[in-house]
Amino acid sequence: MKIQPIAHKTLSETVAGKLAASLLDGSLLPGMQLPAERDLMAQLGVSRATLREALKALEESGLITSRPNVGWFANAIDERNVAKARELMHAADGKPTVPAANEPPTGPLRIPVAPEKPLHIPNLHTDRLGTFEFISWWEREKVQNARVLVVGAGALGNDVIKNLALMGVGHIYIVDFDTIEAANLSRSVLFRESDNNRSKAEVAAARAKALNPQIHVQYLNGDVTTQLGLGVFRRMDVVIGCLDNREARLAVNRFCYWMNKPWVDGAIQELLGLARVFVPGQGACYECTLTEQALRDLSLRYSCPLLARQNILLGKVPTTPTIASIIGGIQSQEALKLINGMPVEPGKVIHYNGMVNEMHTTAYVAREDCESHWTYGQVTELPARAEHTTLEDMLRIARADLGPEAIIELDQELITSLKCSTCHTIEQVLKPLSAVSFEAGHCPTCGNLRETELTHVITGEENYLHRTLSSVGVPPLHILRAHNGQEYRFYELTGDLPEALHFHHFEQTGAPAPARGRVRIQSDEHVKDLPKSPAQGRVKLHE
Ligand SMILES: [Zn+2]
Ligand SMILES: [Zn+2]
Repeated sequence: MKIQPIAHKTLSETVAGKLAASLLDGSLLPGMQLPAERDLMAQLGVSRATLREALKALEESGLITSRPNVGWFANAIDERNVAKARELMHAADGKPTVPAANEPPTGPLRIPVAPEKPLHIPNLHTDRLGTFEFISWWEREKVQNARVLVVGAGALGNDVIKNLALMGVGHIYIVDFDTIEAANLSRSVLFRESDNNRSKAEVAAARAKALNPQIHVQYLNGDVTTQLGLGVFRRMDVVIGCLDNREARLAVNRFCYWMNKPWVDGAIQELLGLARVFVPGQGACYECTLTEQALRDLSLRYSCPLLARQNILLGKVPTTPTIASIIGGIQSQEALKLINGMPVEPGKVIHYNGMVNEMHTTAYVAREDCESHWTYGQVTELPARAEHTTLEDMLRIARADLGPEAIIELDQELITSLKCSTCHTIEQVLKPLSAVSFEAGHCPTCGNLRETELTHVITGEENYLHRTLSSVGVPPLHILRAHNGQEYRFYELTGDLPEALHFHHFEQTGAPAPARGRVRIQSDEHVKDLPKSPAQGRVKLHE
């Protein structure tokens, strides 16, 4: 019987490949010491001779260095050794399994190496993203084409935006309604003392662009729950929530579910934090995680909608820049994983407790009766604009498709009147809930808080059908819902696209003014047929 030497050689190659993979994916960082030889032997289940052969191969490839009487150390991966590292890894079909000596073993890592990723040797003197080429899962094209919506530009948002800009995420859309005050400066890396009273979204966007001029940035100084059209969500790859209240999270959760987009939530308080990924149809969503009590609290808005809104605006949570970095870092990383098509764990939460440095992951249970679980069907793109299209126009379009019973459901409650039960007076209002302050809700005569009469459906019976969609609170590029009791249809105000969604806020230099005039449209017209510049005229529909 003959002993086959091939098996032995393959084993040492496998070991070298595993170690090379750990270097490539960053679990063995430059300068880190490898575990002691006897620990490596035990972990890998190989003999000393096999291990030494593998280490020698890595040393010859310039991937590790021996320090006499100390041990083995990882070298930096650069243009001189990356090809060799990949070769070793692929020869062994390597999966990284060996953590560094100064870290506890955590079991096999599941970071997949993009097999189709071409080996590209970057010029580190001229290419700002060059070092990322050495990261096995980072794919330049995916990252540069990515569109990420960041909701909230506070402590968490600052950190997330900074990370996305540095990592080269090509299109970042920032939303926040707040302005900068002195207390924000202690935990917001993008803000300066001279920014006092300026819009958080605008300043964060400008600083992201300054951090990385190669990316495109847009912002909205407004409220995500009412002022951002669903068409913006529809065109994003990932949404990141950097919010401090349940109402906004619930709104973002529903919008993402409707548009079938993944979103990454983060929450921080003092030294505690959590991060979680929600993907529609995969495990629990944010609303599934809310307790009965929380859902009851949220429905308070219906008994006193104006007060509920005011309370949201006042809610402040104490945070530090350190916890914001930790949780913001995890959120950014999860977003990058989603962009690169790597596996994530939707419906689970990562808890971090900075008091005792404990971190663990827990799965939520998806609720079958969850009201968020609804994804829009096919969206019809209309060349209409929120500012110029009336409720009557919209009803006509919907009824052409769905018949005369079709009604429109608005996403925001519309206040039709304010009633004083003391003075027996009724004031006609017709404004979206968000446009009426708590103070304005009080009776000008007796000062009592008045009753609000709300609606969110347009049936055709209203005496205000001539009003434009924007005057009743429909944001630009929104997607409206209509139904006839059996079937829903979805209509996007795609005519708003050139103004509502473009990533050139910090790049425009004397762009020509948009053309004025009247557009004649048909409801089956598609957005691609639209002229380049947005039309300003009132939309006229063919009968
Ligand atoms: Zn749910
Ligand atoms: Zn009164």
